[in-house]
Amino acid sequence: MNDLRHKIQSLPKGDVHSHLHLSAGIDLLKIKYPKLDFPVPQYYNGFEGMMLFIEQNINTFMTSSEKAISLMDIGIRSSMADNVTCLEASIDINLSRFFNNSVQEFIEAVDRLKANYLGKIDFRPEIGINKDSPTEIIYGSGMQCIESGVFSGLDIYGNEKGRDLSGFQELFLYAKTKKLKTKVHIGEFSGPETIENAIELLEPDEIQHGIHAAESDNTMHMIVERGIRMNVCPHSNIALGAVADLYAHPIRKLYDSGINLTINTDDLLLFNATLTDQYTSLIEHDIFTFEEINEIRKNSLL
Ligand SMILES: [Zn+2]
Repeated sequence: MNDLRHKIQSLPKGDVHSHLHLSAGIDLLKIKYPKLDFPVPQYYNGFEGMMLFIEQNINTFMTSSEKAISLMDIGIRSSMADNVTCLEASIDINLSRFFNNSVQEFIEAVDRLKANYLGKIDFRPEIGINKDSPTEIIYGSGMQCIESGVFSGLDIYGNEKGRDLSGFQELFLYAKTKKLKTKVHIGEFSGPETIENAIELLEPDEIQHGIHAAESDNTMHMIVERGIRMNVCPHSNIALGAVADLYAHPIRKLYDSGINLTINTDDLLLFNATLTDQYTSLIEHDIFTFEEINEIRKNSLL
């Protein structure tokens, strides 16, 4: 390990854009399941290609509550192995299908995970909801998760283009009254107008991805003005073809606009790039200095 990598690896870091059952590191996964063949590609054929990979390689493996819990547990341990001291990770409410379709059993499983890591890592589970979920799931299971007091945040993801987000307004308002941090995935594949729309409708605390904001001074200004943190995942954007490579990534422009941003893994299991990998790579490509990365790192711990 070179000096820079070693230095970065040893520093405490925050990963605040992560999806827990997709966040296991390959090394730790192989230790637990040595026979598992898990051919992670360097690039996916877009978002649909990633969904196909999940269907063929993860959904065929994750067939029980034990396996779902195991993947999440390895996810937390993989973060700790990279010296992540603060992990904000969404847990898809659809995983309750492994818990007898009981949201209560799902919540209890998340609560047990939290208890297992108490004092070892600042683990903040978030309620994860796909934007295409039916209203009864959003307001039935979603509300039940908010009421439980087990979750620290709410994160919605999936379809970005042409999706009417007004159906989430009430849920976001309610989450805020319960002091949950609110996040919305937007602007990885959709334009700046969709980011502005999501901000106006949902007033999220943070935006997941949001990289297309770089195309509009107005959108970047809006994000800065409202103090919205942007949780960027450069390697994920490249693997999914949202950005050609690190040099083409708008992260520098977003940073220079004054946006408070962080760098995150998104899905370590799918993209195989830790925070240390990404921090190091951004410095080695002369996109950020060590001092700038160090400032971004500190932001991720707030
Ligand atoms: Zn994400």
